[in-house]
Amino acid sequence: MKTDSIYYRADADLPLHSENSEYTPPVVRHSWGDKPYYSLDFYLREQFGEKVYRLALNGGCTCPNRDGLIDTRGCIFCDRGGSGDFAASPHLSITEQIKVSSAQVAEKRNCRKFIAYFQAYTNTYGPLHKLRAMFYEAIRHPDIVVLSIATRPDCLPDEVLILLSELQQIKPVWVELGLQTIHTATSRFIRSGFTLDCFQDAVFKLRRLHIPVIAHVILGLPGETKRQMLETVNYLAQLGVDGVKLQLLHVLTDTDLYDYYLAHPFSLLTQEEYCDLIIQCIEHLPPETVIHRLTGDGPKKLLAGPLWSQNKRQVLNQIHSTMKKRGSYQGKQYSGPSKGTVTDIRRSDSHQTTMF
Ligand code: SF4
Repeated sequence: MKTDSIYYRADADLPLHSENSEYTPPVVRHSWGDKPYYSLDFYLREQFGEKVYRLALNGGCTCPNRDGLIDTRGCIFCDRGGSGDFAASPHLSITEQIKVSSAQVAEKRNCRKFIAYFQAYTNTYGPLHKLRAMFYEAIRHPDIVVLSIATRPDCLPDEVLILLSELQQIKPVWVELGLQTIHTATSRFIRSGFTLDCFQDAVFKLRRLHIPVIAHVILGLPGETKRQMLETVNYLAQLGVDGVKLQLLHVLTDTDLYDYYLAHPFSLLTQEEYCDLIIQCIEHLPPETVIHRLTGDGPKKLLAGPLWSQNKRQVLNQIHSTMKKRGSYQGKQYSGPSKGTVTDIRRSDSHQTTMF
């Protein structure tokens, strides 16, 4: 039988008892199964008592960054599939998509519970009646235990928030927001089309509704230093988002980023650099933040680089073994909310009485 590893916060390194002092330092104990961080898999097993798989669904939405409302070109790294390459066909109904995708997963693994993950494009952008119909169809499916919706922070009007709040009464609802970076220059370069204030505002609105927020971050964006990437992670740590998805920058062939890469070759992270950076990110995150992703495997037929990322298992093994060697664990370098940061804003914000 596997015994859970137990990880301690940095203050646990201090002696528990001192002969000359009555002082007993606070010890915060964290146990996340066999990993030195709070993985999504561990969280789901805690919540649902068994393995839960994500089904990538396609609601047939578009995106204001593509349909001309904000821009027509989309984010520079986004491919024609709206970053939803593993999602089911939008030509099928939501129930049919769940049936097809869950059957594919069940072929390989024995599982009964699933997350309905609306992944492609911006899934809160569209007529309310359409969003309502597709989300209700998904959440009412007996095999679905969580509804997870990927969207933009500038696509959460009050009527959508009311709908999400309604759905939250039925089953857990998560909202996934693609922040990618907190740095304005990079944000402009990738053409995200929203500001950090807008992102923060969206997090506060969702928090007031008790809807967990998962923030997406891309590591390795052109021109960003490792320090800047860690600043983005630190910002999220201070903001107190519920989950993070850390993703290596993939250069995909049918994107504007690929054209830029050909014209202005920039250095892509090596596997060594990425693993080292990821470990630092994990150490800077609070122990209670669920880590939804540490790496990703871009669509093989489109991936121009970094090619080492195709071997996801090997990358994860390297992260785990290096963490073990270094005695590293989530929160090791997180010292709690800092004064004068977004946490103060969070506190004052929670005193507001309006719903949104
Ligand atoms: S917001 Fe999402 S779907 Fe829209 S262009 Fe950017 S990455 Fe693609």
